[in-house]
Amino acid sequence: MFEYSSPIKDLPGIGPKVLEKLTKLKIKKVSDLLLHLPFRYEDFSQIKNIADLIIGEKATITAKILNIGQKRVWKRNMTITEALLEDETAPIMSVWFNQPYLTNTLKKGLWVNISGKISMGKMGKRGLYFSNPAFEVLGEEPYDKEMLHTAGLIAIYPETQGLTSRYLRLKIKAVLDNLINIPDFLPSYIPKEFNLINLRQALQQIHFPKNKNEIEDAQKRLAFQDIFLLQIYSRNEKEKIKSRLAKSIPTNLPLIKKFIESLPFQLTNSQKLASWQILKDIEKQTPMNRILVGDVGSGKTVVAAIAALNTATQKHQVAFLAPTEILASQHFKTLSNLLKNWPIKIGLLTASHKLKSGLDKIDIAVGTHALIQKNVKFKNLALVVVDEQHRFGVDQRASLLKDPKHSAIPHLLSMSATPIPRTLALTIYGDLDLSILKELPQGRKKIITKAVSPSNRDKAYQFIENQIKLGRQAFVICPLIEESEAAIMSEVKNATAEYEKLSKDIFPHLKIGLLHGRMSSQEKEEVIKNFSAPGGSAFGGKNKKTDILVSTSVVEVGVDIPNASVMMIEGADRFGLSQLHQFRGRVGRAEHQSYCFLFTGTSSRNSAERLKILVESEDGFKLAEKDLEIRGPGQFFGSVQSGLPDLAMASLKDTGLIEEVQQAVNLFFQKDKIENHPLLSARLSEFKENIHWE
Ligand code: ADP
Ligand code: MG
Repeated sequence: MFEYSSPIKDLPGIGPKVLEKLTKLKIKKVSDLLLHLPFRYEDFSQIKNIADLIIGEKATITAKILNIGQKRVWKRNMTITEALLEDETAPIMSVWFNQPYLTNTLKKGLWVNISGKISMGKMGKRGLYFSNPAFEVLGEEPYDKEMLHTAGLIAIYPETQGLTSRYLRLKIKAVLDNLINIPDFLPSYIPKEFNLINLRQALQQIHFPKNKNEIEDAQKRLAFQDIFLLQIYSRNEKEKIKSRLAKSIPTNLPLIKKFIESLPFQLTNSQKLASWQILKDIEKQTPMNRILVGDVGSGKTVVAAIAALNTATQKHQVAFLAPTEILASQHFKTLSNLLKNWPIKIGLLTASHKLKSGLDKIDIAVGTHALIQKNVKFKNLALVVVDEQHRFGVDQRASLLKDPKHSAIPHLLSMSATPIPRTLALTIYGDLDLSILKELPQGRKKIITKAVSPSNRDKAYQFIENQIKLGRQAFVICPLIEESEAAIMSEVKNATAEYEKLSKDIFPHLKIGLLHGRMSSQEKEEVIKNFSAPGGSAFGGKNKKTDILVSTSVVEVGVDIPNASVMMIEGADRFGLSQLHQFRGRVGRAEHQSYCFLFTGTSSRNSAERLKILVESEDGFKLAEKDLEIRGPGQFFGSVQSGLPDLAMASLKDTGLIEEVQQAVNLFFQKDKIENHPLLSARLSEFKENIHWE
């Protein structure tokens, strides 16, 4: 006998070969098999008489096998099985290729169901026929029995060599029929309260639906439970951190006022509100756990600087982390400049920059993750700011949490320039409090965005040339190729080719730079330095710095070149709107009117419509909502697998569902607790092992 949580090898008829194949599909337990969900359904629900079949349609017939035979086509190393079938209305042929074992089951005189697409033989010789149809044997008479593979909506699963959807359907059916207990980790009042079908019913319906509604109800139920788990998990993590101590850092209001007055600009309302929320958080003795989300250029750095200043002037240390060395050194410069009038020591620590003095003499340490490696000892770290990689800080802090030596843990401020829809943010960042910079500082010039047709390419180059004569600089971004080792190489090749083309054929008199992911961080830094230094070729060419930077998508996060005024994106249709918006944010960072040109490799209407949204809108949050609608949530998580099942992942764009789950989670924490539910507890521990948000 087997149970829901039994290893899959406990099922009858699972030999070592099948076991290996199942393992390939990540099916290790009986429950994994039940949760191996179809990615689509074949619609064989139309049941017809043979005489009524129409070419090209999908349908099911019930017929008797009049004759069946098999032949080998040696030249093509192929077997062909042919059957002649008949119902009360007409005969029809059916053929199968390379399935020699079929004649063991399909025998003359048997009644069968046949489901598939109806094809037409060459020159009408054979008339209509089924090609490789699905089948089901009924017996000596056309008995009315429950169908698994024909006559309905038929589940199609992710398969692997030698393990077909037909096989999976049979096994899943056997499991569903024999499993007495399907344990459900949802507290029983949740399905009742939120109108969800029960788990057994959901599994039955998702694998063997009677109609489309059954599929929808089942999908909702299954997505609901995964998102519920995710949210319970984050809320629980949040509570755990809240139970720890942090250093309370009182707000030095006069100091903050003086700092704000010293700025060459007025803070936006959102900046003021976020700064206030952060200062209030770090006053508490419980650790801050906050993410600051704001579009590129919304001014997150200064908000972080306020918190850093308030902390550092009270003799507590601040760590400021960036994902790359380039960004770390830019932050180092920005902070040094912003805080130059205050008695604060700022240090830069990356793999290639060592600190000049000991870490204990530094008030604000800016760096990459080299900064929080185990051997780096802070004297009294009280605030960690993490730019653009929020899990980075969360995980590091989680390890501090485990270390009993740290009675107090640092406050965490995470920053993200990827505007994401609020409901999605609340789900993904459920363990964090959320501050949003809604508006950009006033007086920013709108970046003129244009989709450029291939015939206008020369004009665009001419335009860039003129901008460079005016003293400006330009970026050229090369198309994205999906992320894999091989793809990174071809991306590098692309960028290198583009670089060659521009420097030899188009702009031989200008200085072109090249940036890609295969360069060492020193090389990258050198390239950025050449690009950010003043004095391009417009300045007499003496001090000849880079005019145009050709880059792969590595330039996306945070590189700050205020003098650049043109962003030209090749293969723009390959990028998400949010990502394009990020690129666009690399220009228009100073007083110069700036431009973004979008080139596409296709002329499809979809891609044109999508790019039009970008041309018309500068609102990062609005673009993110559109992107979520069009491309789904996956892109907001970077390349790392989320650990969330595909169905739940896809459902993250369903705002209504997320809100319902939030209500359920609230209800749960109001009247219940995790300890009351051992199954839920167990699932949470499993979940922790598998979840990897960026
Ligand atoms: P991001 O949110 O993308 O990190 P930054 O912090 O780099 O944005 O800020 C972008 C630019 O805007 C910087 O040059 C910064 O000095 C400037 N800035 C920040 N806040 C304001 C403001 N309230 N008014 C005008 N300029 C601002
Ligand atoms: Mg920034």
